Amino acid sequence: MAVSPTFTCVCGVQKKTSNHWILAKVTSRGITFMPWDWDLALSNDIITLCGEGCASALLSRSLGDWKRPAVSTTEPTPIRGEERELAVA
Ligand SMILES: [Zn+2]
Repeated sequence: MAVSPTFTCVCGVQKKTSNHWILAKVTSRGITFMPWDWDLALSNDIITLCGEGCASALLSRSLGDWKRPAVSTTEPTPIRGEERELAVA
């Protein structure tokens, strides 16, 4: 039998045969998630993830990166309308 390569998630967990791992690819245009594929997983630009938790962590990290260039210090303050009570005679 061939020696299978070891895959490690960003969180440090090592892949075992029973795990349902996910693949992710981060490009300049965005992020893509894919079901596990041995051939794809061997690619250098593929991120191996141990599960949904790490996938969503990677996604929110990417979303944070996308926001960064457009960040402005002045956030619009929500205008709060005050309700007026009608005096009933
Ligand atoms: Zn993980």
